[in-house]
Amino acid sequence: MENIINNIPVTKCEKSKISDVDFNNLAFGSVFSDHMLVCDYKNGAWETPTIVPYQPITLDPSAKIFHYGQSIFEGMKAYKDTNEDVWLFRPMDNCKRLNISAKRLAIPELPEAYFMEGLKALLKLDSNWIPTNSGGSLYIRPFIFASGNGFHASPANAYKFIIATAPSGAYFSGKVKVAIEEKYSRSANGGVGYAKAGGNYAGQFYPTQLAIQKGYNQVIWTDDNTHEYIEEAGAMNIFVRINDTLMTAPTSDRILDGITRKSIIEIAKAEGINVEVKKISVNEVVEAAKNGSLKEMFGSGTAAVVSPIAAFGYKGTDYDLPELENSYASLLKKRITDIQYNRTDDPFGWRV
Ligand code: PMP
Repeated sequence: MENIINNIPVTKCEKSKISDVDFNNLAFGSVFSDHMLVCDYKNGAWETPTIVPYQPITLDPSAKIFHYGQSIFEGMKAYKDTNEDVWLFRPMDNCKRLNISAKRLAIPELPEAYFMEGLKALLKLDSNWIPTNSGGSLYIRPFIFASGNGFHASPANAYKFIIATAPSGAYFSGKVKVAIEEKYSRSANGGVGYAKAGGNYAGQFYPTQLAIQKGYNQVIWTDDNTHEYIEEAGAMNIFVRINDTLMTAPTSDRILDGITRKSIIEIAKAEGINVEVKKISVNEVVEAAKNGSLKEMFGSGTAAVVSPIAAFGYKGTDYDLPELENSYASLLKKRITDIQYNRTDDPFGWRV
């Protein structure tokens, strides 16, 4: 990988905003650190990234992002250990996934060094923004959008890659009540579900609002064809435990290849848990809930790591999950966060 770190021009902010921030009261993704990395694609090439003060962006009203939604993003975190050393978790996987998304949205792929070295330079500059309180982290949002102009429905000729960061406290989703989706789909075969494309999330909002009106917190997405198979939990992957077997749906065109998901699969196997990556039918889950073999359901993702599900609704009936003392969810969350915060060895080699 080309070392560009020393070549990244930095314009520092005049005065840091950090003293205005209450690190014990951070709403997720609402306070932003002093600087951001910006990299432009123009004339057929990505230019050298620069670091500048966090600031608004000016765009032409015809910029294609506004009309055709050519935008992709990533979500990751930086963690500080008790020695104040800073760690990333599998960052190359985010970099590679950004380019998988880029390809699908006809966005030019970003050189990996720009992502990795740019991110490291930004984190060095803003390292005092990485919370040290328990469970805190710096949420990192790399994204690319079409900044090129014109009403013609075709890929833009200019793009912006930005990395912005937001300090966040421990993210407790609480126990959530979810609705298994019977009508709407977030993705389809041949579609963009496996990409982190902005439009995927826009399309989720309305069905999620409907579920919230009915008293649920989140939607469990089912396959678009039959709505008989469970695929994802909101903006998280999903795990189901029946008896002592932990199951998750296989990745596909429709499912995001979550980094937390694949890490949980490996950790669970190393813990001796029986893991099955297989299509999970709604009927199987409903039957298991009825006969008491359904022990746990949880979402997995960077923000909350593991988000336990307390109950699910399907075809007008709500099914409660048991309260477990030694849940897989809490064990797996502990194992993965211990690696992320450098509290244990990292036998998998995930920490950077
Ligand atoms: N599915 C969707 C649709 C998501 O947006 C996310 C969050 N990136 C995930 C799953 C979980 O992915 P990860 O573990 O990489 O955060």
